[in-house]
Formats: sequence, structure tokens, C-alpha cells
Amino acid sequence: MECEPIRKNPADCAGANLLNYDDYAKAFSWEVARACLDGLPNGGLNIAFEAVDRHVLQGCGSKLALRWIGRDDRIRDFSYAELQAATNRFANVLAQRGVTRGQRVFSLLGRTPELYISALGTLKNGSVFSPLFSAFGPEPIKARMTIGDGKVLITTEAFYRRKIELWRSELTNLEHVFLIECSGDPPVGTTDLAAAMAAASDSFDTVWTGPEDMALVHFTSGTTGRPKGAVHVHQSVVAHHATGRLALDLHPDDIFWCTADPGWVTGTSYGIVSPLTNGATLIVDQAEFDAERWYRILEAQRVTVWYTAPTAIRMLMKVGADITKRFDLSCLRFMASVGEPLNPEAVVWGLEAFGKPFHDNWWQTETGGIMIANYLAMDVKPGSMGKPLPGVAAGIVERGEGGDIREITKPMVMGELALRPGWPSMMRAYLGEDERYRKCFGGGWYFTGDLAMRDADGYYWFVGRADDVIKSAGHLIGPFEVESALMEHQAVAEAGVIGIPDEIAGEVVKAFVALKEGVEPTEPLRKELLGHARKRLGPAIAPKDIAFRTNLPKTRSGKIMRRLLKARELGLPEGDLSTLESEER
Ligand code: ATP
Ligand code: MG
Repeated sequence: MECEPIRKNPADCAGANLLNYDDYAKAFSWEVARACLDGLPNGGLNIAFEAVDRHVLQGCGSKLALRWIGRDDRIRDFSYAELQAATNRFANVLAQRGVTRGQRVFSLLGRTPELYISALGTLKNGSVFSPLFSAFGPEPIKARMTIGDGKVLITTEAFYRRKIELWRSELTNLEHVFLIECSGDPPVGTTDLAAAMAAASDSFDTVWTGPEDMALVHFTSGTTGRPKGAVHVHQSVVAHHATGRLALDLHPDDIFWCTADPGWVTGTSYGIVSPLTNGATLIVDQAEFDAERWYRILEAQRVTVWYTAPTAIRMLMKVGADITKRFDLSCLRFMASVGEPLNPEAVVWGLEAFGKPFHDNWWQTETGGIMIANYLAMDVKPGSMGKPLPGVAAGIVERGEGGDIREITKPMVMGELALRPGWPSMMRAYLGEDERYRKCFGGGWYFTGDLAMRDADGYYWFVGRADDVIKSAGHLIGPFEVESALMEHQAVAEAGVIGIPDEIAGEVVKAFVALKEGVEPTEPLRKELLGHARKRLGPAIAPKDIAFRTNLPKTRSGKIMRRLLKARELGLPEGDLSTLESEER
């Protein structure tokens, strides 16, 4: 849909951290951003110290740091001082058992308080934290822990028995397994975490870590292939703090809800580190998506800043905007989205349902933090990812056959989105995959693998993943554009678009469509959708075929797996499915 820009009212933006994009970007430096944090003596830096201890030292210990809402609505609150004590205990548990700086601590936990405590406690101990998504089965867990050389695992007794016990002896370096939710004595070779924590002291001096010391390993979503383990260092906290202030407009009095699971990078960078370093209050909901429950949480917790994802927004859209009127959402002042392209339709729906747009932003596991964003005090062009963060230099480039790299400066010409390395949260390696890592760089650029365009005003527009782009009769077609056009139709809940080999055109566009609840997948509707797309996109770009699906295959982090739609369509091998969400839902 051709949308008018959404103009921001200066009165609504008065207290924004980033008031004037151009001025701020000109004045910004990462050194100044670093100076907003305290650091450790002798140039040290530790993520957990900046997230927790710093606030206690500054006299804010009694402030609410984390409110956890259980599946059964039970609430557990942690002030900054309580979070400090709990994370100190966990750090002591590790230190007492000889777990040292640089060693890897994995978690396989749902969104329980222990997940948050062990993440921060691990970092305090100078060890490296790697959160695994709790719905992974035995194989993906084992594969990732092998790549990461896990020394410690924290999980539940049930997960241990179901997913770990069988192969544990094969991971010879896995020395300690801590369990929560134990029904009695823990199984042989494991330790009850609650008992170990109770026996540990609640004071701990953060282990000295340097800015370049490894802190986190995050595995990518596996949307395009085998997941990679991206290594991040303690210095990334500078970016988490700064991007939280600028792209999410976090202030110390904010109540912030990031709906992403810490099993993915968003749930750690912005579900733990960024809000805490900014001194905000973090909301954690243990339960899975449920539209009514989410609105209830937004209302009851008086959430002010909300960071979610396109899949969730599309599910809310399915339920409709009327339901929002039953809730008092007047505290909500900023809403952002990440993870997948946000269709213009969804941005504008935010206006209808909440009186404000969703602000799309773009980044990757590799970049560690938000790189391109729509800001509170900047007009939104629906469908655009916004402008690069201050301190981040982005470009659109073309890589020639011979390896030459050319920057495209002409507006609205498609090329690969590339970034000039140098921001603090950039990955430092893919664990165990040096060649794959090296291939991401050239000519002073980091290549993102995504295709995009930049308009004359400097806004970036996502086109698609390089792997997903369709080459049809001389045109390069981005699936996002076609999917967005289909999404405009009132019957469509979701769309995934791929290219199918064609003798004449090279490839032709095929769309897979999931319909809104109660809509029947009939032949007349299929024809209507084909016609709608043709009218909106023209015959060269519109899908030649549309197939109905109850659900589209998605990663567990909610991304449409176009490579799987394609493999199934063409009868090709399905590849790595470790991050595929079960498709019954
Ligand atoms: P893998 O690299 O294993 O294939 P992945 O790329 O999905 O998985 P992530 O690092 O979680 O793993 O996701 C980053 C990617 O998600 C980006 O490269 C981009 O393709 C997509 N993405 C993230 N945010 C946006 C956005 N706002 N608009 C469009 N695409 C986005
Ligand atoms: Mg990727």
C-alpha cells in the first residue's frame, strides 16, 4: 500500500532521547556512549555490572528491576538490590565449582527468573553465557553445546530427563548440570540449583573482564540454513545501552516489555541487558502468546515501551482492533518491532488500535544490537526500516563477480545492505566457522545478506534476503513487496512468497497464503487474490500461482521459512530443521 508518512507531533516527542536525528548523528561517538557507563577499574567492562550493580551503587537498589509474571499470573518482583544479591549467589555457585573466565555456561530454560539470574550471574563470573531456546529437542541442543564447548548447563529436571540424559556422557567437557523444578533428589551427576544458591554467599566482586572478552554466544535463527554461533564481547553493552536509549527511547522511569524469548538475541540484548543498563523496569511473561492476556499485561503493568515482532502483531491483527478498546492502554507511549519485515499494513494498524504506529527496526544476531530504526521523534514511512543508528554507517552495495565492491548511491536502487564495522556489539566470530565469518567482510564492509534500498531522504527499505530474492524475466523481485500486497487483502492473515523455476522467465512468483480465521479457502477467493495482486503489483511481479495453507512454516523465533516452502514445493532436501516451529499451531 502506498502510505503517506506518519508525521510526528512535536508535543508527543518532547522528552525524546533523540530529538533531531541529523544533529544527534553528527555529534554522536561511541567513546561518548561508552562514557555513559561506569566500567571496571583499569579499563575493564562487564555487562552484568553495568546492568545491575551500577544502579545499586548509585543508590537505586530499591527500584524494581524485574517483574516476572508466571503462567498462573503469580508475580515475583526483583529490585535492583535483590537482583544483585541473586546474581551474586549464582556467580558464587559457579566460582566455587571452579568455573572460570571464558568458560561456557548454557541455559535451557523457559522464561523463569532463574534464566535472567543465571545470565547475569554468569557474566559477573567472567564466564560466557549461551541461552538455548527451551523448545529445542535433544539434537539441536547437543549440536549447539558441542560447538560452544559447554562446561555448565542450567535446565529443569524434566528437560534434563527428556532431552539431555541420553547423550550427556558424550559431552565430555560438560562438568556441571544445575537443575530447577526438582521433584526430589536431583538425578545422579546433577545439582539442585536452589540448594546451591541457598548455600552461596550473596556478595561477589565482579570478575574483571576487558571490553574484548567474550561474553555471549547467540545462535542465529536458522531461517536461511544451518544456524551459526555468533560471538559477542562485553563491550557490546555500550551498544545495548545506547541503542535502547535512542531506538527504543528508554528512560529510567519506563516499564518495558520485550516479548522476545532470551533464547534468541533480541530476548537477551533487549529483554535483559538494554533495559537494565538504562535503569528501567523489565516485564517478563512466562506464558506464550495470547492476545487477551497480552492486552491485560499492557494495561495492568502500565507498560510504557513495548518491543515485539511482526508475527505477534499479525496475530493481534487477526483478532482485530476492537478488543484494544476494552483496555486502558494509555500508559503505552512507544511501540517497536523487529525480526522480520513489518508490512505497512501492520504499521498503520498500530494507529487504529493504539493511536500510535509500530516503529520497525532492523538488526541481526551478528550485529548484536539495533542498526537501523524508526525513532520516536522522526516521521515514519510505513514499510521502511528507518535510518541507521547514530554511530552506524550503512550502505547499499553491489558485489561483482570478480569480488569488486561498488557502493550504490542512487536512491531506490536495490543492492545488498552493508555496514561499516566498528560498533561495539558487532560479532567477533562465528564459533568454529572462521571461513563463514571471513566471507561476511570485504572492502571495509560487513555484508548482511539482506537486500535493501535507500530513498532520497536516507530511509532504508527492506527488499528480502539475498537467498530469497526472485529473478523473473529480468526483474529482481523481493518477496516482502509481494507479501505486503497480499496482506492488504482483508482475507489474508499471512503470506510467504518464493520463486519457482520456469523455462521462459527463469523463475516465476508463487505465493502461499494463510487466511484469517473463518475465511474459507475457495477457488473464487484464490482468483480474487491473484487479481488483487496483479492490480497492485502489475503482471511482471504478481504471483502466477497462489496456494492456501493453514499455517506457514516458521522458525521458533517467528520468521517465515521461505527456503522450506521452496524445498517442499520443488521436492528438494529440507535442510537444517532444528529451529522449525511445530506446524500444527
Ligand atoms: P539465519 O542467519 O540462521 O538464516 P536469521 O537471519 O533469521 O537466521 P536472525 O539473526 O535472528 O537470524 O535474523 C536477522 C534477519 O532477520 C535479518 O538479516 C533480516 O533478514 C531479518 N530481519 C530482522 N529485522 C528485520 C526488519 N525490521 N525488516 C526486515 N527484515 C528483518
Ligand atoms: Mg541471518
